[in-house]
Amino acid sequence: MTNESTEFYGHLIDGKETEAQDGRRFPSVDPWRRTAWAEAAEGGREDADRAVAAARQAFDTGEWPRMGHTARGRILHRLADLVERNAGELAAADSRDMGRPVAQARAKDVPRAAANFRFFADHARLTAAEQLPADNGTHVYTRYEPAGVVAAIAPWNLPLMLESWKVAPALAHGNTVVLKPAEQSPASATVLARLALEAGVPPGVFNVLHGHGPAAAGEFLVSHPGVDRITFTGESATGRAIARAAADHLTPLSLELGGKAANLVFADCDLDRAVSWSVAAAYTNAGQVCLAGSRIYVERAVYDAFLERFTAAADALRFGDPAEAGTDIGPLASAEHHAKVRGFLDRLDGGPQGRLLTGGLDPRDPRVVRPAVVVDAAAEAAVLQQEIFGPVAVVTPFDTEQQAVAQANATPYGLNAMVFTEDLRRAHRTAAALRGGTVWVNCYFVRDLRAPFGGVGASGIGREGGVHSREFFTEPKAVVMDIAGTLGPEATGAAR
Ligand code: NAD
Repeated sequence: MTNESTEFYGHLIDGKETEAQDGRRFPSVDPWRRTAWAEAAEGGREDADRAVAAARQAFDTGEWPRMGHTARGRILHRLADLVERNAGELAAADSRDMGRPVAQARAKDVPRAAANFRFFADHARLTAAEQLPADNGTHVYTRYEPAGVVAAIAPWNLPLMLESWKVAPALAHGNTVVLKPAEQSPASATVLARLALEAGVPPGVFNVLHGHGPAAAGEFLVSHPGVDRITFTGESATGRAIARAAADHLTPLSLELGGKAANLVFADCDLDRAVSWSVAAAYTNAGQVCLAGSRIYVERAVYDAFLERFTAAADALRFGDPAEAGTDIGPLASAEHHAKVRGFLDRLDGGPQGRLLTGGLDPRDPRVVRPAVVVDAAAEAAVLQQEIFGPVAVVTPFDTEQQAVAQANATPYGLNAMVFTEDLRRAHRTAAALRGGTVWVNCYFVRDLRAPFGGVGASGIGREGGVHSREFFTEPKAVVMDIAGTLGPEATGAAR
C-alpha cells in the first residue's frame, strides 16, 4: 500500500476542527486504489473527554435544548439543504473511504441523509403527545424532554446514511451529540459536522470524535459517565461489548446489529420482479448491508427457473472502479473485510457447506468478490448461519410454506425478511410468522421513516424511527395536575 494522503479529517469538537490531543492520526485507505487517500485524528481518552464535555456544556447551558422544535427544525432543514448542495463531496468521501459506487452514494445515500434531517425535524415538531382522558378532575399529559448527551457509534457500510439516521432524531429532539464514525470511513462525518455549523447548529451541539473501537475512542465514549444515551449500529459482538460498558452507568442504549435475512420466493410470485428485487437484496453495496437477503428460499416448482434467471442477473452486474458511473459493485470495503468474506468462500466444500455456482473470488483481482451464488448448503452450513456481509447469496429449495418459514427463522438473527407472493393471505400469514423487525412483501429496503426499525435476537435491542426514535432520544415525563381542585390526599396512589 502506498501513502498518497492529502486530505485531513479532524475531530470536530465545540465547533472547532482539531487534531487529537496527542497529535496521532490514522490513514483511511481507498479500497479500490489501495492508497491512503486521507487521514483522520486518532481519538484517545482525552479527546473523548473533550468531546463529551463540549456536548455536556452545550446541553446543560446552551440554547439548543431550549430553543424549541420550530427553531431547531429551521436549522435542520438548512442542514438538509446544505447536504443536498454538497452531495458531490459527501458521496465522494464515502466512496473513497469504503468503495461504494459514487453514483449510488449520490443517488441514494445523500438524498436519504437529507431526508433524515427533514423528516425528524418535522416529526419532532408535528407529532402529538398523549393527553389522557381523566374523570377525576386531573389533567394528565406527557412531555418528551431531550435526554441529554447522545453517543452515536456508526459502522462503515453506509456511513452518511446511517450516521444521519442517528444524528437527525437526536438533534431534532434537542439533544447534543458525539458521533464516532467507523475508523474505515471517517470523512463524511467531519464534512457533515462542518455543514451543521454552517447551517447554524451551535458549537458543541454536534461533535465528531474519530478513532478506533476497543480500548480507543469508541470504548472511551460508550463508557463515559457524561453520556445519557448510546445509539449503536454495528456487529452483534460489538453490541454485546457496548451493552456491558453501558451497564456500568445504566446508560440506555439502542442496538442495531447484524442480520442474516431470509428471502422467501413462492411459486405464485411474479418471478421477474422477484428476481430483480432478490438481486438487489443480495448484492447492493457488494452485500455489505445488514438487511441483505443472503438466504434465498425458493419453492421447488420455480427453483430451476429462479436460479437460472438469478444467476444470469448476478453475472450481468458490472463490478469495478467505484468512481465510474456504470459500476454496480465496487471493491469490498477493506483488505481485512475481503479476507473475512474469502474465509466463507474457502469453506465451500461441494458437500454440506455448499457449492459455488457462479462468481466468487477473482484470481486476478484481490479487491473484489464477484456476485456469488451458492447452492446445496445444509441448514447448519456457515454460509446459512453466519453473517457474511459480502456479495454471497445461498439459494435453497423448499416444499411447503411451513418449511420455508421454519428455515427462515432458524438463525440467531432477526432483523428482516422478504416474501415474494401474489397470494394475499399467504403474504399476511408469512409476514406474521417470520421473526424479525421488518418484513418486506414483494419489495426490499423500501423505508418509511415513521415505521419502527430494529431487530430481534442477535440483531439488536430497541426500535428507532418515528415515535420510536422520540421514545429513545427523549425522557418522557408524565405531568399530573389537579385542575378541578377537588382531589384530596386520600386519592393518592389510587388506581385509575
Ligand atoms: P463494528 O461493530 O466492527 O464497528 C462498528 C462501530 O463500532 C465502529 O465505529 C467501531 O469503531 C465501533 N466499535 C468497535 N468496538 C467498539 C467498542 N468496544 N466500544 C465502542 N465502539 C466500538 O461493525 P462494522 O464492521 O463497522 O459494521 C458492519 C456490521 O454492522 C455488520 O454486522 C452489519 O450487519 C451491522 N449493521 C447493522 C445495521 C442495522 O441497522 N441493524 C445497519 C448497518 C450495519
